[in-house]
Amino acid sequence: MKTEIKNRLTNELNRLELNNKSYLGYPLANDFSFKALAPFLDLQINNVGDPYTPSTLGLDTKDIEIEVIDFFANLLRAKKNSVWGYVTNGGSEGNLYGLYLAREAYPNGMVYYSESTHYSVKKNLHLLNIQNIVIRSQENGEIDYDDLERSIVLRRHKPAIFFLNIGTTMKEAIDQLDKIKLIIKKLAIKDYYIHCDAALLGVVAPFLNPRPAFDFQEGIDSISISGHKFIGSPIPCGIVLCKNEHKDRVGSSISYVGTKDTTITGSRNGLTPLILWYALKNMGISGLRNRVNSCVELAQYTEDRLQEIGVNAWRNTNALTVVLDTPSNWICKKHQLAVENEITHIICMPGITKLRIDEFIEDMKTDLSNETVKSDANEIYDAFLAANF
Ligand SMILES: *Cc1c(COP(=O)(O)O)cnc(C)c1O
Repeated sequence: MKTEIKNRLTNELNRLELNNKSYLGYPLANDFSFKALAPFLDLQINNVGDPYTPSTLGLDTKDIEIEVIDFFANLLRAKKNSVWGYVTNGGSEGNLYGLYLAREAYPNGMVYYSESTHYSVKKNLHLLNIQNIVIRSQENGEIDYDDLERSIVLRRHKPAIFFLNIGTTMKEAIDQLDKIKLIIKKLAIKDYYIHCDAALLGVVAPFLNPRPAFDFQEGIDSISISGHKFIGSPIPCGIVLCKNEHKDRVGSSISYVGTKDTTITGSRNGLTPLILWYALKNMGISGLRNRVNSCVELAQYTEDRLQEIGVNAWRNTNALTVVLDTPSNWICKKHQLAVENEITHIICMPGITKLRIDEFIEDMKTDLSNETVKSDANEIYDAFLAANF
């Protein structure tokens, strides 16, 4: 390899390795190794089109992709052969797909989603040109059911498309399907569609106790989950699942590739199904359960430690996300914290250790003692103003 190329790669690798160890504010697992899949990097792999229809191009990992879909279908308690899905480029694509299916089912439908919904959804609604309305959120990030009900009452003649958060981005709040169903029943809504955005919690919630209601047994129509978040992957990916009947409304046969055009993109990643398959095979159900339990425990520890040192910290029931008042800029930078308005969060993902949390707590202590100095200075200044003017 040319020295110049080699040096550049070394620099990139060092920077990424360092930053991979230092973030606390994003829901990304970093405890994986996919070196065993390295030989696949020297091949053309392409899962073009529908995973269930082979292509004339034999360069795919569709058999593996179908196993991944089956794994999720089981985890989300779908009846055998009742759902369809594919491995996406991430949670956003799965949400776009769910909304696309909803629009095909109800071209005249109205999408209801809370103000805590992921930023990409607005753009997707715009792309799809579907009517939509933002519903207020409660303080904990959950949708405001009263506001939702009032909004639907005004539009009862329209089919309702519910875009629910199974874990909002900022506070990991869960919109409760049971309460949505009560509203549907109360208002006697006949035509409706339920999509769940379970980017982070899709692989987590099945192991929580109590188990949040969000899956096919509970009557959802489609769901999107990110693969690179809780499972972890060097390439962003995800999974989307829907009831068969919805998929059957879209996608025509394309003779050029000999498969069906049911997916958003044509050429599709064949490596990410391998990555997900490899990770899930190695973890198994019991591995996933342990993973969830350790993260919930670490989140509890983080919340307790922060409260102990006087930080205003809290989290939703069983959440991996601890919400806190935004500290000084240097802390946010050092620990790669995502800030929204006056709050930030620590997300206790697989790969984050107690030691990392302790380091963060030490930095918070330093920050708090500086705060005292700052507020003293302010008080002295205020007293000076009061005395002299
Ligand atoms: C991360 C996230 C998304 C987007 O998922 P990507 O995999 O980054 O495309 C959507 N919704 C929620 C709630 C998320 O947390």
